[in-house]
Amino acid sequence: MKNLQTEILIVGAGPSGLTAGFKLIDKKEFVIIEKSPNYVGGISRTEKYKNFKFDIGGHRFFSKSKEINKLWDQILPHDIILRKRSSRILFKNKFYSYPLKPFQALLNLGLIESILVVLSYIKAKTIKNKNINSYQDWVIDKFGKRLFENFFETYTEKVWGMKCNEISSDWAAQRIKGLDLKKLIINSLFKKKDKKIKTLIGEFKYPRKGPGMLWEAAKDKIIENDKKIFMNADAYEYEYSDKHKVWKVKCKINNEDYEITCKQIINSAPLKEVVNNIKPSLKIKDDAKLLKYRDFITVAVILDYKLDIEDNWIYLHDPDIKAGRLQNFASWSPEMIDQSRECACIGLEYFCNEGDNFWSSNDDEILKIATKDLEKISIIDTNKISDFKVVRQEKAYPVYDENYKNSVSNIINELTSKYETMHMVGRNGMHKYNNQDHAMMSSILTVKNILNNNKENDPWMINIDAEYHEEKKDQIEALKSLREYPKKIS
Ligand SMILES: Cc1cc2nc3c(=O)[nH]c(=O)nc-3n(C[C@H](O)[C@H](O)[C@H](O)COP(=O)(O)OP(=O)(O)OC[C@H]3O[C@@H](n4cnc5c(N)ncnc54)[C@H](O)[C@@H]3O)c2cc1C
Repeated sequence: MKNLQTEILIVGAGPSGLTAGFKLIDKKEFVIIEKSPNYVGGISRTEKYKNFKFDIGGHRFFSKSKEINKLWDQILPHDIILRKRSSRILFKNKFYSYPLKPFQALLNLGLIESILVVLSYIKAKTIKNKNINSYQDWVIDKFGKRLFENFFETYTEKVWGMKCNEISSDWAAQRIKGLDLKKLIINSLFKKKDKKIKTLIGEFKYPRKGPGMLWEAAKDKIIENDKKIFMNADAYEYEYSDKHKVWKVKCKINNEDYEITCKQIINSAPLKEVVNNIKPSLKIKDDAKLLKYRDFITVAVILDYKLDIEDNWIYLHDPDIKAGRLQNFASWSPEMIDQSRECACIGLEYFCNEGDNFWSSNDDEILKIATKDLEKISIIDTNKISDFKVVRQEKAYPVYDENYKNSVSNIINELTSKYETMHMVGRNGMHKYNNQDHAMMSSILTVKNILNNNKENDPWMINIDAEYHEEKKDQIEALKSLREYPKKIS
């Protein structure tokens, strides 16, 4: 067993772990360990295959927080481009703009279905449901049953592999709270478009070689400052010594056994695993067992022709298409595909559970399923598929089922009261459906607490609303300064 000592151990080199490192760079002694042998960036990494690059699901860089936008620019000052957002929904062989355009949607649905949609919307607005528990209750209450069935039900069930009435309403509240149908209709009727809001929805930032480019730059800056990042390093046991007030963390680094002694841990590994690996054992181990995840496979399919569509992504709502979403990586950034020839790279995204039939199928079988799906999506010529790459991502989504809230709350109570020096951060670290910005913010607040030696900032309180306090103006300014940038790219 080899020994290492440091003041702070950071577990995980995803957005939250690297943000913690970046913020501590010249302030504290720390070491980062990362399970992956090759990539930093975690779920926000950019996979590389031959002359192609692709995300684990396209990653928009979008944050209402000025601090986060500033940090992105600081890490990657010259390589973040501004992209036009374009996405559609494919449902029953018809394309719908996303966000939905009410009149286009009604036209596509046909007269009878449109009348039913409007009637069920009126019903939902007049007879309010006072007992909203599930995602299904929440969406029906806000948009009516027919809109739920047409635009929410099938896709959501693909993502979660659960019925919509088994999914907590928290997920709807977090993801679609801002969608106001009445406003949408009024705006499209009177063409009263708020230019600023439109800009926010219609554009996003993106590193020109994918999100991994930013996280690689963060890694390089940390290493340049004489800090260590160990790759292929998996933490599997955390033992706390009350007497010495230190943690002893067992991990395998390149298959060798290590024990790292440290005073504090900033941990972005999945909460379920961390609780299970703490010694002495915690009472909340049973709560942790109830936490579930949804896993994800992306099939990057290379086409030998230039795909002439603008979409960054297309939601695939039809139940007879197994994939949930299609990504068009060239639309994210031209540098994501081989620049030397006419080609395209699309990503078909599958939501599944680690170990299920789909997850365990070999890559050729998965390509067959992907090809069948593509045949049903008329815009792709499957005869021109020349290559493919399958990437599996475990624990892509922390599941919000009926148990999760109670379990997470019990875990936080025992963990934070017993071990003030174990700081859980990030998406799976906090079992929160966080985007990069929220994952990063949890680390920023944690680092502030560590440096100030207090608990003034509560990372568990980060939510969408908290960031709304920051002026939209800041975001618009940040976008404006980028608008000229794409022209500079060769
Ligand atoms: C399909 C999809 C699309 C998404 N789209 C967007 C988007 O458009 N915009 C956006 O901002 N966000 C998006 N996200 C969310 C984004 O990926 C996450 O919010 C972000 O990556 C979370 O960062 P993190 O550091 O908390 O966790 P992770 O990215 O999960 O990183 C954690 C790291 O810890 C490492 N690790 C785990 N266990 C151990 C261990 N025991 N020892 C050592 N290392 C360990 C992992 O290998 C990983 O590298 C998307 C996510 C998915 C699944």
